[in-house]
Amino acid sequence: MFDEPLRVPPLLGIADETILVERARVRGTARRGERGADLEGSLRATVRMPCSRCNESFEIGLSVEFFLVLVAGEERPGSGAQGAEEEDAALYHAPDGRADLVDICSEQIYLNLPLKPVCSSGCKGLCPRCGANRNRTECGCGEECADPRLAPLLRFRKPQ
Ligand SMILES: [Zn+2]
Ligand SMILES: [Zn+2]
Repeated sequence: MFDEPLRVPPLLGIADETILVERARVRGTARRGERGADLEGSLRATVRMPCSRCNESFEIGLSVEFFLVLVAGEERPGSGAQGAEEEDAALYHAPDGRADLVDICSEQIYLNLPLKPVCSSGCKGLCPRCGANRNRTECGCGEECADPRLAPLLRFRKPQ
């Protein structure tokens, strides 16, 4: 049984944006399993990443449950066949027989990041014309930006 705070280095997002990981904590159990060690964990972290609409950085709380089988040794080359890959999805290869919790948790955080993070459901994003943050200023291009063809979609996107 372990329960400890982690210092997770910043991650790099798909658009090369920096994602800071703060207040990460992992708890769980490691047991000897059939193929190596079975690691069951639950991870909590606060990540800071830029909003996909307005680009301002904001905090998101993540809570991730994971189960991994730790196997000593390198990943075998050529084992990348489709079927094998699916079966091995929960395998974690530890080359020197030691699992690095920070490494494992970085990966789990990465896998659970939202694809289109938004700072708030009402974020107005950047003006496509002048680039102003429309949460902060009325840039004046506003009226023309509202394309009447998008109106039905906008109605959809309103939170319930
Ligand atoms: Zn935003
Ligand atoms: Zn504008």
